[in-house]
Order: sequence, then structure tokens, then C-alpha cells
Amino acid sequence: MFKEERAEAMFNWDMIGSIAEGRPNLGTTMDVSVYRLMQFTLRDVLIQELGVDAADRIFYKAGELAGRELFKSVITQKADFAAFIQELKDLLLNLKIGILRIEKSDLEKMEFTLTVAEDLDCSGLPVCEETVCTYDEGFISGLLLEFSGRRVVVKEVDCWCSGDRVCRFEVRPAA
Ligand SMILES: [Zn+2]
Repeated sequence: MFKEERAEAMFNWDMIGSIAEGRPNLGTTMDVSVYRLMQFTLRDVLIQELGVDAADRIFYKAGELAGRELFKSVITQKADFAAFIQELKDLLLNLKIGILRIEKSDLEKMEFTLTVAEDLDCSGLPVCEETVCTYDEGFISGLLLEFSGRRVVVKEVDCWCSGDRVCRFEVRPAA
């Protein structure tokens, strides 16, 4: 699983395991601080070892893989865009990832503006004038790639960390 070298992603949803079986007393949820502790220490070490650009690239790519696999394994509404977005909104809410809103949507041009409030990755962090939700950028791109078959570039333009109350993402078709 994690001790095999690889050139391509080997992740699949089964790797998440049976949480209910493995954690009969503790259950399927835990504190957000634990998620952030893991993500931010990992990111800190990646930056130390590889630099900011490579760390960002890895986070984006991992987020994209997560979005693709979530779409394949969890999303059931794979044909109608409005139904897909509604299911995604409900899922992100139920999983307590964040509160998704679509501000602008043009499926033909593959141009979207969307916001995530109470984002798992950044809401409540100290303001530092950076947009930090690189994993989320990749995550959104992976979901849209699987839905549409088209590659997009997702850029976070507002973030809790840059002083905003929501994270705002601009989606454009990949060149
Ligand atoms: Zn953010």
C-alpha cells in the first residue's frame, strides 16, 4: 500500500478502510485540529525538503486525486450538473468539509466562481495575506475533471488567511 514504489497513483477508496469496524468506540469523526495538525506539519516538512513551489504542486496534485476518487466512489449524480452540484453541496456539508456556494457557473466555457465557507483547511487561521487552500484547489479541479472530462485550472482568489470570511475559487479551462 505505502511501501511500494510507484510512478502513477495507486490510491483507491478501499484504502480508507472500514472505519466503523476499526473504531467501534471512537467512531468516524475526530477533531478538526487533528486534521490540521497532520496537514500543516506535513506541508511544513515538504516546504523544508522541497521548497514552496514543489510543496504546492504536491498539495494540488493530492487534492486533485482526492476529488477524482471522491467523484468515482461517492458521487452518484454523474450526468446532470445541477444534480451533481446539489449532491456535492450536501456531501461537503455532511462530511463537515465546508459550505459550498456557486456564485457563477458557465458549464460550456468551464468557467466558475465558487465559495467555501467554514472551510476545513483554513477557517479561523491567523491572517497572513496568503491564500493557502492549495489542496482544495486541486480537489475542485479533480471533481470537475471527472464530471466533465475537461481539465480546469482552479485558483483561490480569497481565503480566510488573506482576510476574507470565505474562500473563493476561480475555475478556468486549462490551456
Ligand atoms: Zn482558504
